[in-house]
Formats: sequence, structure tokens, C-alpha cells
Amino acid sequence: MPVTNLELKLKAVQIRKSLLTMIHRAKAGHTGGSLSNTDILTALYYRIMKLDVRNPQWTDRDRFIASKGHSVESLWCILADKGFFPKEELETFSQFGTRLIGHPNNKVPGVEMNTGALGHGLSISVGMALAAKRDGRAYRVFCLMGDGEQAEGSVWEAAMAGAHYRLDNLVGIVDRNRLQISGSTEDVMGLEPLEQKWAAFGWEVVSIDGNDMDQLVKTLEAVPAAPGKPTLVMANTVKGKGVSFAENSAKWHHHVPSDEDLRKALAELDALAERLQQEGQVRQR
Ligand SMILES: [Mg+2]
Repeated sequence: MPVTNLELKLKAVQIRKSLLTMIHRAKAGHTGGSLSNTDILTALYYRIMKLDVRNPQWTDRDRFIASKGHSVESLWCILADKGFFPKEELETFSQFGTRLIGHPNNKVPGVEMNTGALGHGLSISVGMALAAKRDGRAYRVFCLMGDGEQAEGSVWEAAMAGAHYRLDNLVGIVDRNRLQISGSTEDVMGLEPLEQKWAAFGWEVVSIDGNDMDQLVKTLEAVPAAPGKPTLVMANTVKGKGVSFAENSAKWHHHVPSDEDLRKALAELDALAERLQQEGQVRQR
């Protein structure tokens, strides 16, 4: 069923609240990166990707590979909300014996591949996209990478292969929040000019605000951006997006919110939801 962009924006607020609560409860998690990629995953899972919750292994489903596997909390909250597993299971996140560990785990319905060792996801995605072409199937493969992850050499081997095999059913998305665990990406291992690098490797590059739902939907609905080429969406995001005191802070890479932090963060997100709803009502009049 089609969902309006306003509904997607409100859904992203709900997912942010849910993941913060989950991380706070577990006293563990990758807060900054999950808040950074929430809008991207919301657009993919509620609007863009063809999935069947009742049949997660449906042959023609679109595939999502979370190559930046550490930022899994947004994914767990979305899969639960979609009904891939019961919502109550989120309470077991990061506890002993749970399926909902700190990285994607393919024992969980809806998860294609175990990821987290950075630099592997795009190679897996290239293989899946190539298989679709060889089998004459129409499914697409969406691969979310971190920007810190761009320093892994294997990303660029996969980039070469994706262009060589003309995989226009493959979409790479870089969560370009300009921070990694130890600081600015440009201080740790300079990536710029990153868009030109992807273009030189044969990808059609589209650069957008990766926390802007309207831009995300418009861009992802229009892939491939060029026929016969894989698409690279440079999603310029803010690490910690939606929580003022966590935004643009490397410290929040895996910082756990205190009771007070959580209270403030949920209040900010509730206020955002209210503003969005008011704006939506104004537009409807
Ligand atoms: Mg980053």
C-alpha cells in the first residue's frame, strides 16, 4: 500500500524513539549510526522495496544488505514494526541467547546476510545482483555502506565488478555522515573527492540529503539513475540525527543514552512529530 511522505517522516520518528529506548534498555548499541540511517531504511522498507512479510524468502523480493552492520538497531526496529518478528522480541536486544544481536543475523526473518565486518556487503550485493541478471529476475539489491567503511579496499573491488557487469539492478547507498568511530573521516582516512571516485569506477552517482525523506523517496523511486550502470546514492546525513545533543558527535558512535538523555531525546522527537503533523494539516487545508 502506498504511504505518503508525511507518514514516512512520522514513521522515522517512531523508529528513532524505538531504537533509543531499545539501546537504553540494553545498555549497548550504535546510537549515532542508527539515527543517521533511519530515514534511508524507512524509505526503503515502507515505500521502495518489494517484500513479503509472510514469505521473507520470496524469490523475487528486493534484497537489502546492511554492510555497515554495526548500525543494526534501526533495522531491528523496522523489521519488528513490519511484522517479520514480534515487537516484544526487541526487549531481548543484546541479551544473552537472543537472535537480536548487535549486528545483522540471518537467523532473523528478513535478514539476508550476516554483516558487520566492514567492506564485505557490497561484494555480496554484487553477487546477488549478478544472480538476478543471470536468472532473468527483476529484483533489485540495495546495499547500505558507512562512510568510514569506504576506507576498506574490498569496497572498491566490488565497485569495479558492479560496473563491469553493468548491474543497473544494484544500488549502493553511502551513509555519508562524515564521522566514524574515531573521528572525522577526513582526518582518519581522507575520502574526498568521494563522488568522483565512485563515478570514476563506473557508477552513476546521485548526491542528496540523506535525512530528507522527500529527496530519498524521489531518488530511490528513480533507480537506476542511468541504464546499464549501478547507482550510487551519496546520502549526506547527520550522525545522531534527530537528537540535538547526539548530532555530529563521534562520541555517540556507541554511546548509550542515560535515563535523562533518553527522556530529553524522546521529548525532542515527540515535538518533531507534532510539528510534522501540524505542517501536514496546514498543507491539507
Ligand atoms: Mg560514518
